[in-house]
Amino acid sequence: MHEMTIVAGVLEIAHRQAAGAGATRINRVVLEVGRLAGVEADALRFCFDVARSGLSAIAELEIRDVPGRGLCPACGASRDVDELAALCEACGNVLDISGGRELRVLSLNVD
Ligand SMILES: [Zn+2]
Repeated sequence: MHEMTIVAGVLEIAHRQAAGAGATRINRVVLEVGRLAGVEADALRFCFDVARSGLSAIAELEIRDVPGRGLCPACGASRDVDELAALCEACGNVLDISGGRELRVLSLNVD
């Protein structure tokens, strides 16, 4: 499963940072996930619960949703988009995606 690979990477980052900070446990991992990143939030949560262990055994996953954003290279118009292939409503050009592909660890809460 695609999401399990992502969660494994997220937990690796979290464990490395927590260990580097001398933490004994990770309470919360805040993940920023764009709507165009191609991952399912529910699947991420499920995989996280399955994969957490050691320092992250009781960690919670918080997902911050980032809307998709398209910018028209021709006329400069921008709008929220739900798909990677979107057209400018003003001039019909294909929009450049300027937001919504994020997938990164924003912060950790550790003890
Ligand atoms: Zn346009």
